[in-house]
Amino acid sequence: MELKVVKFGGSSLADANQFKKVKEIITADESRRYVVPSAPGKRFSDDTKVTDMLYQCYECASRGENIDSLFDKIRERYNTIIKELELDFSLEEDFDVIKSAFRHKSGRDYAASRGEYLNGKVLAKYLGYDFIDAANVIFFKMDGSFDSEKTNEVLSKVLENHTHAVIPGFYGSMPNDTIKTFSRGGSDITGSIVARAAHVTLYENWTDVSGFKMADPRIIKDPKTIEYITYRELRELSYMGATVLHEDAVFPVRMMGIPINIKNTNAPLDKGTMIVSEAPEEANCSVITGIAGKKNFSVVRIEKDMMNQELGFGRRVLEVFEKNGISFEHLPSGIDTMSVVVAQNTIEDKKEQLLHDLFKSVTPDHITIEDGYALIAVVGRGMVSTKGTASKIFSSLSDSGVNIKMIDQGSSELNIIIGVKNEDFEKAMNSIYMAF
Ligand code: ASP
Repeated sequence: MELKVVKFGGSSLADANQFKKVKEIITADESRRYVVPSAPGKRFSDDTKVTDMLYQCYECASRGENIDSLFDKIRERYNTIIKELELDFSLEEDFDVIKSAFRHKSGRDYAASRGEYLNGKVLAKYLGYDFIDAANVIFFKMDGSFDSEKTNEVLSKVLENHTHAVIPGFYGSMPNDTIKTFSRGGSDITGSIVARAAHVTLYENWTDVSGFKMADPRIIKDPKTIEYITYRELRELSYMGATVLHEDAVFPVRMMGIPINIKNTNAPLDKGTMIVSEAPEEANCSVITGIAGKKNFSVVRIEKDMMNQELGFGRRVLEVFEKNGISFEHLPSGIDTMSVVVAQNTIEDKKEQLLHDLFKSVTPDHITIEDGYALIAVVGRGMVSTKGTASKIFSSLSDSGVNIKMIDQGSSELNIIIGVKNEDFEKAMNSIYMAF
């Protein structure tokens, strides 16, 4: 039997008109029985998301300032939605509880989570679905990490007693009953957690774009939409900065092989993008699934003759990075050189110490640290079975005069990472996209 979890992002629930679209989508398909909402997002480009208003309001409260007018603006957002949907329903009691909790310094996470909590209540009322407070079914461990097993156990049981329910996204509770949120955009994770616990056949993630683009539309004009992408390709692309879905949202569903369909609330008939463990044969026509990239990396290049024969060399290098609290992103290496690529901001004020420790630990011949690198990931499951992908990338870059500073092919042959100077980034992205 078909059963779907549907998650709606903030822009899909920004005002009453968006709520109406959401209801239409849900009622058009009987299998859409579990709903995960975000807090109301922006209604127009310089509007403020309710989550940001809550953070702001809480900050004021913690400084002991008066929050009346800020809080009223939040209240107003919900009350306008309730009024325009003509719901016989009030959140006034909740508002009083929340406002007083703010004054008693209830915690920043608690404050932010109220956006989803309140929106969940409104949506449940509007749909006639049960409301399940995420605090009772989503759990974190004392160290702040997500407790996936406890959550799955409790949530599966609770869902058995609700055929139709709204479960607010973004938060859960700690062992001491305080509220904790995931990182920003975390309602995507909640959607995935509910999908796993309810054993659904599909997780629909409704947003304001019709799926993933092959490249960032701010850099490439009108990039094509990706029809099918595997979880692993998606991980690679989101790690490199492609946003649409929170990067941790794939884990719970991947475990169960549940596909995610990215859909557009404002164009519900568009197919969107399917995120799957294995793409169907017919969807394997293109070599490259997507391209993504980020600027501002530093490359620490360590040279030492015959380093490849020195037992434990790599380990000692990495130990130095670890000791300095710097995590590395890539490790392209040659016979006498090893490069460690790190995010520039993680190394900025540690360079001297790092050099000192490296010289002491591995006595290299030479070390350089160069800032201002951009990394571009060309990702595609089709690369394994296609010859000449790398050469196509490199000739396109050389044709457009981009100097390649680094190449790293992932061991899975799923991606090729190219390092260029920051100033060549846009040009490089465009020429690779055009080549494919
Ligand atoms: N409302 C939260 C945020 O703005 C979480 C979410 O929308 O997923 O980050």
